[in-house]
Amino acid sequence: MTRTATDSVGLRSPVNPEGWQPDTNGINAYRDDEALQQLLALYLPASDLATLRPTFESLGDLIGGRLDQLAHSADRNPPTLHPRDRQGRDRQWIEKHPAYTEMERIGYGEFAMAAMSHRPALGLNHPVPHAAKYAIQYLFAQAEFGLLCPISMTDALTRTIRHFADPALVERYLPGLTADDLEHQIQGAMFMTERAAGSDVGATITRAVPNGNAWRLHGDKWFCSNTDAGLALVLARPEGAPSGIKGVSLFLLPRDLPEGGRNAYRIVRLKDKLGTRSMPSGEITLEGALAWMVGEPGQGFVQMAEMINQSRLSNAVRSAGMMRRAWREAVTVARGRSAFGRRLIDMPLQQRQLLKILLPGEQALSMVLYTADALSRADSGDAEGKALRRILTPLVKFRVCRDARKVTGDAMEARGGVGYIEEWIEPRLLRDSHLGSIWEGTSNIVALDVLRAARKDSAHTALGDALRRRMTATEVPAELRKQLAELLDRAVQAVDVAAVAGLDGDQHARTVASGLYHTASACLLAAEGSTLPGDGGSRRLLLAQLVIDHKLTPRDPLSPNDKCYSDAVALLMR
Ligand SMILES: Cc1cc2nc3c(=O)[nH]c(=O)nc-3n(C[C@H](O)[C@H](O)[C@H](O)COP(=O)(O)OP(=O)(O)OC[C@H]3O[C@@H](n4cnc5c(N)ncnc54)[C@H](O)[C@@H]3O)c2cc1C
Repeated sequence: MTRTATDSVGLRSPVNPEGWQPDTNGINAYRDDEALQQLLALYLPASDLATLRPTFESLGDLIGGRLDQLAHSADRNPPTLHPRDRQGRDRQWIEKHPAYTEMERIGYGEFAMAAMSHRPALGLNHPVPHAAKYAIQYLFAQAEFGLLCPISMTDALTRTIRHFADPALVERYLPGLTADDLEHQIQGAMFMTERAAGSDVGATITRAVPNGNAWRLHGDKWFCSNTDAGLALVLARPEGAPSGIKGVSLFLLPRDLPEGGRNAYRIVRLKDKLGTRSMPSGEITLEGALAWMVGEPGQGFVQMAEMINQSRLSNAVRSAGMMRRAWREAVTVARGRSAFGRRLIDMPLQQRQLLKILLPGEQALSMVLYTADALSRADSGDAEGKALRRILTPLVKFRVCRDARKVTGDAMEARGGVGYIEEWIEPRLLRDSHLGSIWEGTSNIVALDVLRAARKDSAHTALGDALRRRMTATEVPAELRKQLAELLDRAVQAVDVAAVAGLDGDQHARTVASGLYHTASACLLAAEGSTLPGDGGSRRLLLAQLVIDHKLTPRDPLSPNDKCYSDAVALLMR
């Protein structure tokens, strides 16, 4: 590719007259992300960050190279279900493309992504803090989304059984769940959804029949990702249990029986999916499969919520990562291509589109790291951390996943016609990003959960208080702080009104959740901007102002007026 211009904004000479498509190949995704580097320094102890930096660096390299190529191949070669083994025995198996298996080795093995919260890893002599774990997922998702589902489920299943299961079961399976060689490793899954029981988990009809110290499960599960996982957490209704959610219990289902042989369930077929094509999602029929009850009878959904919430946060992080990748591609194209004798990045209308692609991803980064930190505080028993985690988890799952749908679509357009062609990453980003809003609770369901967190735990007021304190502690400039404090009061109040209004308030759940999300992200960006040195700090202050102007202030479409737009371009496009 010929480059005849430097990267400075405002240059008018044409670049790349042959019209080659610029891409991010060879660019280190961590080193290229100053915001991520600076924010990690806010959330991680300095010694942990120093130890983990080589890990971030080497993952950053993989994103711009090997992992990207593997992800592309695995997406083009989805798994297939074989009903019998080569001897003709009825032993089902799922054939995965070697590219997927290689990514498994990188994810589970080299980066200990499923194990790092449960044992020392990556050079630390203690489990890896949540902020670092999710930063690793954020980077990984910039190349591969599909595999992050099994990785996150393995991590979340381990956490859930450590919380609730019989210690003997945990002892039996923990070494496999945290192993880093694929040979001895056990992966996790979650079989919850049934044809008539998706959002409405209380409609579960899978039956559990007592069998000595264990149970036998009978029924159909309709969506089972990582279908051939070694262990799955399953919701079922013990015979004689009451109807509705109170009659549902949680069970641990092994693929392989302790005494040898396969457990009694069948993979009926694999789904032909729009996205996450690298990873199998199937339908399962339980035919008296052996399982052990986890925790208390009738507490199935409450306990499963532990796994679901972990997955919801991971989904938001993955969507944030995909938005980052979308932005990196879009801005690289804009810098490297020209039309009408000018670089795309120098055109005011394209600059505006690029800002729209950038902003939601930066909001998301601030919000998911803050949520990860709240999770760490909650785990250490901190009451405020628990309240923050309670409301932030559905909040980020809702808004970040929705934003990723739009951002990836806009980034596709920013590449022009080639953005629609499957040889480039944009179509995969678009396809994958649409799933985040559907599984682990659709947008409606998670927005309603934000209201529930307000109604039952007053978690919205805890969030408002925590953000106000943060802005004071970081000395956000007085005028901006006043503006944000007023917006925060209104956002918390709006959630309050919808929460107390019961069913009448439900119709506003998404609107008030969006309002709270945008306000919270502006407060965080302002606080970060007031703390971080140099251009990094100035950028985040500008982003806070952009959120206020573009997401929280009513605008007249017949009289456009963006006050900080031109300032933003020069600083943000670098
Ligand atoms: C690729 C893929 C992989 C999946 N993997 C798994 C898996 O591994 N394990 C698993 O258990 N599940 C899995 N799922 C299932 C997924 O979690 C469910 O599809 C999802 O929870 C929605 O349930 P449903 O399909 O029954 O839709 P429904 O619940 O029927 O929802 C249909 C629509 O109704 C809306 N709706 C429902 N209730 C309300 C309400 N109270 N108020 C307002 N609107 C409402 C929803 O928002 C949605 O728009 C997967 C799904 C997909 C697509």
